[in-house]
Amino acid sequence: MSRIFNFGAGPAMLPTAVMEKAQKEFLNYNDMGSSVIEISHRSAEFDEIINRCDSLLSELAEIPPNYKILYVHGGAQMQFSGVPLNLINYKPARKATFMLTGNWAVKASKEASRYGTSINAISSEDASFSYIPKWNPSDLDLESSYVHITSNNTLYGTRWHKFPETGDIPLVADMTSEFLSRKIDINQFGIIFAGLQKNLGPAGLALVIIREDLLGHALPETPSLLNYKVYEEQHSLANTNNTFAIYMMSLVLEWLNEQGGVGKIEIENSRKAALLYDFIDNSDFYEGTAHPDHRSIMNVTFNLSENELLSDFLEQARAAGLYALKGHRAVGGVRASIYNAMPYKGCEALVDFMREFEKDRG
Ligand SMILES: *Cc1c(COP(=O)(O)O)cnc(C)c1O
Repeated sequence: MSRIFNFGAGPAMLPTAVMEKAQKEFLNYNDMGSSVIEISHRSAEFDEIINRCDSLLSELAEIPPNYKILYVHGGAQMQFSGVPLNLINYKPARKATFMLTGNWAVKASKEASRYGTSINAISSEDASFSYIPKWNPSDLDLESSYVHITSNNTLYGTRWHKFPETGDIPLVADMTSEFLSRKIDINQFGIIFAGLQKNLGPAGLALVIIREDLLGHALPETPSLLNYKVYEEQHSLANTNNTFAIYMMSLVLEWLNEQGGVGKIEIENSRKAALLYDFIDNSDFYEGTAHPDHRSIMNVTFNLSENELLSDFLEQARAAGLYALKGHRAVGGVRASIYNAMPYKGCEALVDFMREFEKDRG
């Protein structure tokens, strides 16, 4: 059986070696005569899995000891509620500042406004979120409990190369579409969260990394299963967690470790992105949509100069085993999501296809 190159934004492709390992031990985990999805979340075997996940994450992301790792229900968007519920009360004015660099930040801002005041500091909506606006730290409202950014804008193919300096005010980052794809100094952040389904595992669960002094500020009405303090105290097992997702993530992390870790994969990711961007920049037939200074190495977005060829492009790509290249409905065009699991040869196959398509139709 040959596997397609899946350029979908998420759920995204996982490393084949990870899928094979999961398949191999699916019926009989660790010689227990039982599947990993059939054992208790309080068993010694699962305890070993979640501990391994913690230690691999700490090592790979270089998480300092004063940060806690939580596995929180509901994926990334659930944290659009989870973060304000846990942190908007950090300062009495109950304000939070949002950097609107895309739809996910807009959604997060709206959700937070249920619990306090959302301040929208910058926005690139005027140019279809194709760039990261400049921001002056002296404009920061010092009554803010936190500042929220989307570190990589999945829909538009932009990212923050350098994160905003917010001084004593905790910086919160939605890193769903790039966590563990590049080296990041965790100390710059109060909270980092990421839904698993792009770079870490299957959908439905979020990884939350929180500086420990930010725990314990939740609004009284916070549901227990969104209260980060409850997660911290009970090692994310206040109720039956998504054991399969945690297990799959542990396999993805082991795989990443075998690849040489985040520094190595960042070099590989940059090489993959450069292959695509260089080709696009040297062509009159394809046009990149993100501002060159703010380009993502995870989501590469572009248009065809003749838009009426788009549906043929997507159809023929699909037939050539290049799957899910359609841009997000809010943006249109083409989007190639090239997360950690996308091999270099997948990007080569895409460039070869683009060259042929241009030759035929350009
Ligand atoms: C995909 C994505 C989300 C949404 O994730 P869900 O788990 O579906 O809620 C949120 N933020 C970013 C940056 C994303 O890429």
